[in-house]
Amino acid sequence: MRIILLGAPGAGKGTHCKRIVEKYKVQHLSSGDILRKERAANTELGKKAQSYMDSGKLVPDELIVEMMAEAIGKAPAAGFVLDGFPRTVNQAMELDKALSSKGRNIDAVINLQVNKDIILNRMTGRRSCPKCGAVYHITNLKPKVEGKCDIDGEALVQRADDKPEVVKERLETYKEMTKPVVGFYEKKGCVYEVDANKSAEEVISIIFNTLDSLIK
Ligand code: AMP
Repeated sequence: MRIILLGAPGAGKGTHCKRIVEKYKVQHLSSGDILRKERAANTELGKKAQSYMDSGKLVPDELIVEMMAEAIGKAPAAGFVLDGFPRTVNQAMELDKALSSKGRNIDAVINLQVNKDIILNRMTGRRSCPKCGAVYHITNLKPKVEGKCDIDGEALVQRADDKPEVVKERLETYKEMTKPVVGFYEKKGCVYEVDANKSAEEVISIIFNTLDSLIK
């Protein structure tokens, strides 16, 4: 199964992708996570991406498309769930070309819709482990020991791009560049709208019902 999770930053894409991976055994391909790994490893791509990411802007399409084409090429036969990609209509067109050259397509685009105030709360309260990438929230998903990662005990940090001024910029970028991607897939008839203001459990059960109906 080939799935895309769309939605503004903070819509819960990462959280729901993990549950999708557990249930359908597809590979989670998060462009943001791949970029953060490239940065941590100080690669050329990581260095090029840094200033865009820290200011809440999009990394140029040509860098992202090449990076994601490589990741998708290595995905298992069970398929993948894309998280954070495509983020522009141009990226979606490139993905379409790459898949159709192999006789493939996207089975479902899940569009997570969340109100702006909920997004701001989720993102500015988010804390991450710089070592393993685990994500917490200062009120909604607290670690067992305050400020420390449950998995490796590392001190939690606020990602540079989760600071309030950058979050606002990321939301603007989303509205301008990524919302049109929904329209691109609507024309193909594979978009499923999900009200993601609800609890994570309610949202994932809607997503599971949608995906199950596609398998049957
Ligand atoms: P994320 O963790 O998905 O919110 O991504 C963090 C940052 O990585 C974004 O704010 C962008 O700067 C960059 N990024 C991630 N995915 C993409 C993409 N598909 N196109 C361009 N930039 C991206």
